[in-house]
Amino acid sequence: MDHLEFDNRFVTELPGDPDTSPEPRQVFGAAWSPVTPTPVVAPRLLAHSREAAALLGLDEAAVASDRFARVFGGNELLPGMQPWAAAYGGHQFGHWAGQLGDGRAISLGEAVNADGERWELQLKGAGPTPYSRTADGRAVLRSSLREFLCSEAMHHLGVPTTRALSLVGTGEAVIRDMLYDGNPRPEPGAIVCRMAPSFLRLGNYQLFAARKEDELLERLVDFTIDRDFPHLVEQFGDAEVGGSATARSQASAARRAAWFAEVCERTADLMVHWMRVGFVHGVMNTDNLSVLGLTIDYGPYGWLEDFDPDWTPNTTDAQGRRYRFGHQPAVAQWNLVRFGEALRGLFPDLEPLEAGLNAYVDRYNRGYLAMTAAKLGLGEGGPWAPYGDGAADGAGVAGGAGGPASEAIQGMVRDLHGLLYRAEMDYTLTHRALGELVGQGVSGDTPWVARLAHGVLPAELDEVFYDETKREAQAPELATWLDRWRGAVEARILSASSAGETPELTRRAMHQVNPKLVLRNWLAQEAIDLAEQGDPSRIHELLDALRRPYDEDPAYAHFAARRPEWARHRVGCSMLSCSS
Ligand code: AMP
Ligand code: MG
Repeated sequence: MDHLEFDNRFVTELPGDPDTSPEPRQVFGAAWSPVTPTPVVAPRLLAHSREAAALLGLDEAAVASDRFARVFGGNELLPGMQPWAAAYGGHQFGHWAGQLGDGRAISLGEAVNADGERWELQLKGAGPTPYSRTADGRAVLRSSLREFLCSEAMHHLGVPTTRALSLVGTGEAVIRDMLYDGNPRPEPGAIVCRMAPSFLRLGNYQLFAARKEDELLERLVDFTIDRDFPHLVEQFGDAEVGGSATARSQASAARRAAWFAEVCERTADLMVHWMRVGFVHGVMNTDNLSVLGLTIDYGPYGWLEDFDPDWTPNTTDAQGRRYRFGHQPAVAQWNLVRFGEALRGLFPDLEPLEAGLNAYVDRYNRGYLAMTAAKLGLGEGGPWAPYGDGAADGAGVAGGAGGPASEAIQGMVRDLHGLLYRAEMDYTLTHRALGELVGQGVSGDTPWVARLAHGVLPAELDEVFYDETKREAQAPELATWLDRWRGAVEARILSASSAGETPELTRRAMHQVNPKLVLRNWLAQEAIDLAEQGDPSRIHELLDALRRPYDEDPAYAHFAARRPEWARHRVGCSMLSCSS
């Protein structure tokens, strides 16, 4: 581990809090406070991600060492680590909440790996900081396990996310009132080490703006561009060096405008991904939205099983359902408007901010069209390309988006969603089954298609329903939809046949956007139940399965199954709270 090199730019380039005590307080004029992780009684490594370890050049022997558990349990620092907690604010459930900050996250340092990549290492649950307010700075095993597994699962799904290196049991109990019903109980504690190029959130900028700490805000923005968006420095030049003062200030304004637009576009891409895989974040407060467009802060998140756009996994959100599945793109937009307001003072006029916000809408809409079409095997512009794969110039977005063809596709998508909802069908399993059907052929005389005419639904759909009565009630309409859809797929394959398109290739392309495995809430809960009894083996099995979420692997059939009946109303499966 001693080979790890740290280059802690956040604390060397931005002003810090001179006060070193962990006493809860308002911190002014600083982007961070120096803190030290509070040691734990018996740090024990419960799980680690070998891919995340490899990013740091850590081999299995290093990970298995006692020292690893001590470092990532918060009991020891490596040379070069300079722990801190960041200051940020945020809008929570639509209301400005003032200073929040890293109340239970402690960054250890910015490791720079052999490829020059920067990975900030951050412990979640390592003890109190000046931002802990009345809370303890700790985290329970159940929530840490969920964050650990979901971070890596998202990565393997191709969804931008913070990563997770390790899950360390603390050997200490943490008291939580899980359902906020006056029944606090001790639970095992744990610490996740998260990794990201940056943990900056929209709320970091908002805090300085709200306090009119304009110079700090400006410094943070330019620091972010410099460290985390180096391509913009290349494109617009370094605002600090060369040229006349006017030229420098113009370059700096253009750079900041491009940066704002890029944050908006990355957020749009992230929302498209969440809608693609059926992920519901659960607490999309502005302090939980990454400026890099990463999924961040896994709390009471959940995965859609029976399709319901109004579903929220977060019991704290059950009343207003602000963070329900179908509302996520609108909430992200609302958050970006707040972000734009915070940056208002940096721009002489509103135009760049409006342009960025418009870019969000445009990018999201085009991405959503392309993504939903691809999920049904109806993508027209080749495989749907997520952010970073040349999609920035509009390539990878289905050709003809907005044209008559795409309107027909969107009608089909809407009708399917209506059916999924009314017939209570599993979002993930249904899309996967559609891919299997395409693989068998889509012409009128393909056996499954021929049987549709007699009202017989394909056996591939047997396992996607949660309610027999609803299935029966919707079967005729579903059969009609399936026939209409397969006709569209057939037409698309025919029109692209000169380019070599076949049902089999379409099936494969669909299986690349429609995962077979997602971290269903009950799967995480099974792993939690075992881990709380001292058996972490299910974490390892799940992690292994979730490495290849698009593959067919009979060994993991259990993990690909629809939600069992016991989980329908079980706490931790259908209901989650922020108490973690
Ligand atoms: P969240 O909604 O989990 O993103 O957290 C909102 C704010 O509460 C952040 O400032 C967190 O650092 C803080 N927070 C949440 N849980 C704890 C805890 N157990 N101890 C200290 N601060 C916490
Ligand atoms: Mg948070």
